[in-house]
Amino acid sequence: MVVEVDKRSGFCFGVQNAVKIAENALLKGERVFSLGSIVHNDKEVERLSELGLVSIDHDEFMNLRDCSVLIRAHGEPPETYETATRNNITIIEATCPIVKRLQSRIRETWLAARQGSGQVVIFGKPGHAEVVGLMGQTDNEGILISGPDDLSKIDFTKPVWLFSQTTMSAGEYKKTGRLITDRMKEAGVCDPDLDLVVNRTVCNQVSNREPHLRAFARRHDVVIFVSGRESSNGKMLYSVCKSVNQGTHFVSSPEEIEKSWFTGKSSAGVCGATSTPKWLIEEITRIVSNI
Ligand code: SF4
Repeated sequence: MVVEVDKRSGFCFGVQNAVKIAENALLKGERVFSLGSIVHNDKEVERLSELGLVSIDHDEFMNLRDCSVLIRAHGEPPETYETATRNNITIIEATCPIVKRLQSRIRETWLAARQGSGQVVIFGKPGHAEVVGLMGQTDNEGILISGPDDLSKIDFTKPVWLFSQTTMSAGEYKKTGRLITDRMKEAGVCDPDLDLVVNRTVCNQVSNREPHLRAFARRHDVVIFVSGRESSNGKMLYSVCKSVNQGTHFVSSPEEIEKSWFTGKSSAGVCGATSTPKWLIEEITRIVSNI
């Protein structure tokens, strides 16, 4: 059996950057708290916690004083920074620069939109950390939609500025833009060419991987997709592989691999999400090769 590892799989630039910042802080011997898991991957979280990184939730954060807290790649809403200032907490800023820019754009747009009758609409997963940070830029007055069922939240007689969480599917985002255009035309008050602004905010690190993984998954008899179960990008990229290859299996640790998946197969591909560490993909590739 030929085993191919997808060279492009593994941490995106934003997660790589956050992990590096955490490692550097830990090397100085500082006690570092991470607000939420630094990455949606239990294995990598375990590795960093052995180096001394302590994950905390928002309730624990509210009660901390005089310490250092790392903001992970997903970013945080403005009130987190206000709490840090009040409680003498030093922020170790590891928000992905692309997310940081997106936050600023949403803030500026929302401030401008509320002078008139415009609406800021965010296409994302409810409760996802990045989305909480993005909605925070609008003082939670933005409209959050995660699919066609949520379109009723939008007033189609008013202008819309559409943004997407960086890790959403580029295809789904396009479709959402088209549905809003159609509804605006039906309402007959706004001209979608003028009154709908679809901002291109799906991250290239994600959108480039979709067509690449589709081709990769097609090339193999069986595909092992490695990702944490909490990773929204992992779920999305797994479904991309599964849609073209029914022999795709989702695993989050080496113990989940089953020998029977490879019976009678002549090629296997191993790939993963933007939150999957390279070392884990390599470890799983070694196990598959041994099988
Ligand atoms: S997917 Fe893109 S925007 Fe999101 S953390 Fe990674 S590099 Fe940054």
